[in-house]
Amino acid sequence: MRLLTTKKELFDAIPRDLSIGLVPTMGALHSGHASLMKLARQENELLVASIFVNPLQFEALGDCDDYRNYPRDLDADLKLLEECGVDIVFAPSVSEMYPTGIPLVWVRTGAMGEKLEGASRPGHFDGVATVVSKLFNLVRPDRAYFGQKDAQQVAVIRRLVADLDIPVEIRAVPIIRGADGLAESSRNQRLSPEERKNALVLSHVLNKLKARTIDIADARAELAQAAGVKLDHLEVVDPTTLEPLNDLSQPALAVAAIYVGPVRLIDNIEITNQQ
Ligand code: AMP
Repeated sequence: MRLLTTKKELFDAIPRDLSIGLVPTMGALHSGHASLMKLARQENELLVASIFVNPLQFEALGDCDDYRNYPRDLDADLKLLEECGVDIVFAPSVSEMYPTGIPLVWVRTGAMGEKLEGASRPGHFDGVATVVSKLFNLVRPDRAYFGQKDAQQVAVIRRLVADLDIPVEIRAVPIIRGADGLAESSRNQRLSPEERKNALVLSHVLNKLKARTIDIADARAELAQAAGVKLDHLEVVDPTTLEPLNDLSQPALAVAAIYVGPVRLIDNIEITNQQ
């Protein structure tokens, strides 16, 4: 495995005669990331993983506690990536990625990036789409892998490659959860044991929605009243367009975000038509 930190090294290191898989990450890697690596390893001859905490997709372009407190542990990440059989790790500095500072030209994700997560995090998906476009240009992968945990991100990236004709296949990988049901997330590290217990209400409520033992209004109420939790949003949407669906009679995705203490957690579940 090679660790590269400059764009030139990366560009030069990539052979053009092999199939290439790319897994973009922000590091602080866990079993969710490992499952992306595993599928990408199976499907490609060369596997590239990137580690970059992208300031553009954080509040105030990274001038915020969420960016500063985002967990970073390159040594542990490299160990996990080595075990996953990654060939090239690209871990650039912020100035390497953005040598002239905040870029002038961005990718705009429009209405799709402004709803749900984007409503609470203005500009977030523009920042994601901009950095992912740069990574696509640098690596030119055949396939790129994203977790279903970030369902809106998957939908936005699919539109990015469709709308800009980027020749890459987007592969979505199912959510990996802890034994207690909490979706794995780098941000879980910041939860105290009690906060982690409080956070479990999120997956419990989504599971009840899927089982149809509660409706959307009950689900919202349960999250709003849960101990130590602040509800940000819970919506049932079309998985491709992210447009709200008013009933549960068609295939849908329930997507939610809560705050547990200062930590923002997201999760989602597919609701299949059982009629
Ligand atoms: P991040 O480092 O948080 O930007 O995540 C990098 C990639 O890993 C994204 O495509 C995420 O959706 C994916 N990912 C993060 N957590 C999980 C999880 N629990 N299950 C599946 N994929 C995940």
